[in-house]
Amino acid sequence: MTRPELAAAFQAMDLPGYRAEQVFRWLGRGVGSFEEMTDLPKDLRARLAERFGLTALVPLRRQVSALDGTAKTLWALSDGESVETVLMRYKHGNTVCISSQVGCRMGCAFCASTIGGKVRDLTAAEMLDEVIRTGLSADSRVDGIVLMGIGEPLDNFNNVIRFLTLVNDPAGANIGMRHISLSTCGLVDEIDKLAALHLQLTLSVSLHAPDDGTRAKLMPVNARYGVDELYAACQRYFKTTGRRVSFEYALVRDVNDTPWHARELVRRLRGTGSHVNLIRLNYVSERGLMPSREDTVRAFTKILTDGGVTATVRRRLGSDIDAACGQLRRGEMRKL
Ligand code: SAH
Repeated sequence: MTRPELAAAFQAMDLPGYRAEQVFRWLGRGVGSFEEMTDLPKDLRARLAERFGLTALVPLRRQVSALDGTAKTLWALSDGESVETVLMRYKHGNTVCISSQVGCRMGCAFCASTIGGKVRDLTAAEMLDEVIRTGLSADSRVDGIVLMGIGEPLDNFNNVIRFLTLVNDPAGANIGMRHISLSTCGLVDEIDKLAALHLQLTLSVSLHAPDDGTRAKLMPVNARYGVDELYAACQRYFKTTGRRVSFEYALVRDVNDTPWHARELVRRLRGTGSHVNLIRLNYVSERGLMPSREDTVRAFTKILTDGGVTATVRRRLGSDIDAACGQLRRGEMRKL
């Protein structure tokens, strides 16, 4: 529940407004039961426990990278499903990468999360719990969030927006929209819907190819929304929100990493002020696609920057702990 919803529910139960505020603050601290809300009278705690349920993710596995401190947790959900969350430690603060669905139905050719299809959407409470419990378990502040874990956030639109409202609340986790990034494979209708909300978050679009021919090979969503339509949606997004879209581009050996692809990307993005995040493909054994060679990555980056498109190669964190892209959940499923 959002704070106003909780206030309304408490009012309907003839409870004073400050009780709703108290409970909301406890929820932001990740308590697992009403019993722990020690500044509420005992009979009220019992009444609330009868009436409401609390979401509490249970850690199944946790791995911490010896290389860079990146921590990944596989959580059990109340119905026995599981999702994973990653905590990345940067100099400028801690970022939590959360999942938005159990599995994914977008079918990208290089991605581990989509292999078993989509099982279900995550609720807003489950996403919020990923953030809060990851912070608690690492005993550290959460400074930023990226919606780049398992799932397609815009395919779970309403729950994701509700989650953003919750996590942004000053009386709760209090994470500013400017510290939140949402990544999408490019669902154009939902990009427009998101733009209309004027949130100050960063929208990242997983482009992975500048042209329909290559993109269609990697991403089935391209059959629904082609590259031209996607670029147009990104421009509308910028016009409506004043926030530039950034692009993600995973370099796949001999598929999307040729000089032609780099030049085509320059042709499409030059002058838009958009930033490109390059990442060498993370190898997923089921997928048969290979990461680009290091020198190809360098050559590709140079063509972009020489052409006036800013690009950075993303540093890989947690490569020793299967930190990327649904690999931990996939690993657990393989064992079954
Ligand atoms: N569904 C959303 C967000 C989740 S994926 C999206 O598509 O953007 C987060 C990012 O990881 C996306 O850019 C996705 O394309 C990328 N990704 C998935 N599998 C990958 C892999 N094996 N190597 C590198 N990047 C990958």
